[in-house]
Amino acid sequence: MSANTQHTLVDRDKALVWHPFTQEQTALARLPVVRGNGPWLYDEDNNAYLDLVSSWWVNLFGHARPEIAASIAAQANTLEHVLFAGCTHEPAVQLCEALNQMLPPELGKFFFSDNGSTAVEVALKMAHQYWRNVCSQERRLFIGFHGGYHGDTVGAMSVGAHCGYHDQFRSFFFESVAVPFPETWQDDQDVDAREAAALDALETSLKQHAGQVAAMIVEPLVQGAAGMRMCRPQFIAQAVALARAHDTLVIFDEVMTGFGRTGTRFAFEQTGVVPDFLCVSKGITGGFLPLALTITSDPIYQAFLSDTADKAFSHGHSYTANPLACAAALASLTLLNTAETTKVWQRLTQDHKSGLHMLLQTVPCIERVRQCGTIAAFDLPEDYPSAASQLHQCFLQEGLLLRPIGRTVYLMPPYVVTGEQLHNAYERIAHVLGAQADGARAVAPAMPEISI
Ligand SMILES: *Cc1c(COP(=O)(O)O)cnc(C)c1O
Repeated sequence: MSANTQHTLVDRDKALVWHPFTQEQTALARLPVVRGNGPWLYDEDNNAYLDLVSSWWVNLFGHARPEIAASIAAQANTLEHVLFAGCTHEPAVQLCEALNQMLPPELGKFFFSDNGSTAVEVALKMAHQYWRNVCSQERRLFIGFHGGYHGDTVGAMSVGAHCGYHDQFRSFFFESVAVPFPETWQDDQDVDAREAAALDALETSLKQHAGQVAAMIVEPLVQGAAGMRMCRPQFIAQAVALARAHDTLVIFDEVMTGFGRTGTRFAFEQTGVVPDFLCVSKGITGGFLPLALTITSDPIYQAFLSDTADKAFSHGHSYTANPLACAAALASLTLLNTAETTKVWQRLTQDHKSGLHMLLQTVPCIERVRQCGTIAAFDLPEDYPSAASQLHQCFLQEGLLLRPIGRTVYLMPPYVVTGEQLHNAYERIAHVLGAQADGARAVAPAMPEISI
C-alpha cells in the first residue's frame, strides 16, 4: 500500500517539504498540481487553473508542449549528460549556433550554467576578473538599480541588495551602489523628470567611484521581482552611454525579459544598445529544464587568454550545458523563431491593452497601469482591503493562477493563451477585485504578503 492511499499529496508535502519564499507557519495549503496542458494546470480533482504567471516566468509555449517533450526524450536516449570541461556535444554547440543567429555579432561567446542566479554570478565574476586580467585593477564595485533583483546566491543578492528580498543576509554582501530606477506607467506626467534624476544619480556615482566600478547591472525595460516596474527604452540607452563614458562594463539581466516577454526576442533590441554581458535563463528551455547562459563579447573572452591558468575563468557547475536542457532549448527556440510567435506577441500586446482598459472602467481604483509586450501590471491602492495572499486564493477560486507581488497584480501568460481565455481572465480579475473592494472593509489583511 503506498502512502498516498492514506494521505493526500498536500498532507505528505506538508510533512516533509520546505517551500521557497514561504513562511511555513502561516502558509495556505499548496495547490496539488498533477498535470499541465497548454496554458492550463490541473489539480487532483481535475480543476483547471489558467497559468497567468507562466510558472514563475519560465513557460513560453504551454505545459507539456509535445515538441519540447519529444526533443528531451530523444536526447535522453542518446546522451543524457557528460562533463563540459574537456568535452563538448552537439546540443550545446547547436544551441549556441542558434542563439548566435539571433544576437548581434558583438555577443558571440557563450558560457553555460544552470539558473538565473548563476548566470548573474558568472557575469559578475567575469567583469571583476576582466579588469584584473587586462590592467591589474581590483574593481570590486557594482552599480545596480533600486528594486533590481538578480537572484538568491550571495553575489546576485549583493547587487540586488535594494530589492527588499534579501535583508536577512545583508551582512554577507559585498559593496554595491544602487541608483533610482525611473519606473513609469500609463499617463505618467513626471517620467522625464524621474529619468533625469536617475541619470544624475548614476553619473554622480560613476564619478565618485571612478576606476572602481567593475560593471553596471540592470534588468532592461522591466524589473520583474520588484513588481513588474517598467522603464522607457531611452532611459536604458542613456544609462548605458553614461556607464561606457565612465569606462564601466554593462550587464543586462534578461533572465526574465528574454525570449519575447517584452514583445521582442530580447528587451535590449528595443533600447538600441548591446551590453557587454547578457544573462538569460528562465524561458530558454520553454520552461522544461534549468539552464542558463552568460553571453559576452570577443574582447571580454580575449582578456582571459594567456599561457597560464591564472587568467582563465575558474568557474563551472556539475550540470553545465546539460544535453537534455540544451535539447529542450533547441526545440523551444524553433517554436520561438516562427513568424507565428511574433504575431502572437503583437496579439497579446493588444489583448492586454483592451483587458487593462476594461479593468480601469470596472475597477477605477487601480493605479499605475502599465504594460510591456506580453507583460501587464497594475497596483492596488494603499487602502485596498485584501492582502496579496488573500487575492491569490480568490483568483484560484476563479480558476486563475496569479501571484500578486505586494500591491502589484500582474499577468505574464504563456504565449499559447488565446485572446478569449485572456479576455475571460480579465473579466474574472475585475470580478474578484470589485467584490473585494466592495466587501471585507472590516477585515484587516492578516495574511503574509506573497513575494515574487
Ligand atoms: C528569476 C530571476 C533571476 C534568478 O533566476 P533563478 O533561476 O531563480 O536563480 C535573476 N534575475 C532576474 C531578472 C530574474 O527574474
